[in-house]
Amino acid sequence: MIEEFFEQPVYGLAKAEKAALLSRELGELTRHHDAACAPYHSILSAYPPDALPGGSVAPFLPVSMFKMHSLSSVPQEQIFKTMTSSGTTGQAPSRIFLDAETAQLQTRALTRIVTSFIGPKRLPMLIIDHPSVVKDRRTFSARGAGILGLMTFGRDHRFALKDETMELDWESIEYFAQKYPDSPIFAFGFTFMVWQHFLQQLKAAGRKLPFADAILIHSGGWKKLEAEKVSNDIFKGVAKDIAGFSRVHNFYGMVEQTGSVFMECEAGRLHAPLFADIIIRDPQDWRECAIGEAGVIQVLSVLPRSYPGHSLLTEDRGRLLGEDDCPCGRMGKTFEVLGRLPKAEVRGCSDTFAQPVPQGAAA
Ligand SMILES: [Zn+2]
Repeated sequence: MIEEFFEQPVYGLAKAEKAALLSRELGELTRHHDAACAPYHSILSAYPPDALPGGSVAPFLPVSMFKMHSLSSVPQEQIFKTMTSSGTTGQAPSRIFLDAETAQLQTRALTRIVTSFIGPKRLPMLIIDHPSVVKDRRTFSARGAGILGLMTFGRDHRFALKDETMELDWESIEYFAQKYPDSPIFAFGFTFMVWQHFLQQLKAAGRKLPFADAILIHSGGWKKLEAEKVSNDIFKGVAKDIAGFSRVHNFYGMVEQTGSVFMECEAGRLHAPLFADIIIRDPQDWRECAIGEAGVIQVLSVLPRSYPGHSLLTEDRGRLLGEDDCPCGRMGKTFEVLGRLPKAEVRGCSDTFAQPVPQGAAA
């Protein structure tokens, strides 16, 4: 029962207890999607039950499946929101079909996770982006959806950037600086936007912001920052020095599993919340990697009901750092992301599923 996940502390269950709860729920989801989503059924039935990639409880699909196929486990009329990923050049975006139940579970899970880090009180919120990314509410881009999802945790919202030119909106920033000096505020933005278009522009203007104990949550790939030799430590140092963000949390998440995000704790590790889990796999034979071994990241989530996205093989490399032993005191697996997989390996992952999926067979 999914409600059990909301009755337990989000980072409080030890390994054995969490594993029992998760495997039961994930197994139910596999059976549900197998019965409700014809393309998913045809993928599963292409394998002998004991040879399913990732095991029979929650066999994994490569995330690229959501770019190539319409995968839905509910009738068309129950879909009230379609989310899309930005999609890299030359690739179709992922399309994720949400019904009311899944969307509500996503919101509830995200609330449990985020408030456990920033507290239940809504803080004044600076959004490090421009307002037009959240304008079209019928089809959400991952960026717009991410911002809208986080906006519920703040109040007195202002956008820090003007428009597509990415110029700072000095009026917004001055308003915040004058209204909340020496106060905690909450800011959210995508990692590269925060670095390039916020912190670097403030620095170039010789400006420091007066907030104290402010919280920054940011998400998105490090690829562009790595190219500029900006490590997580450098990022945090500059965010604190220039904008007063003494609490900075990155998170790892994807549009295919919105809600059950992996937040970075004070010790700099990404944490699996109760709603989710992480497995690192060796791309040669898909066995589970041990702690410390690098491999491909598989993400599991108990939230997806309206589409078969509860077990996904990502296109990212990562490494487990531990389980139930983080210095911050939170339970669960901890890990780090090591970047995107090389193109050839991504193709290798997709080739694991060489079986054709019948076109137009989605519910
Ligand atoms: Zn931790």
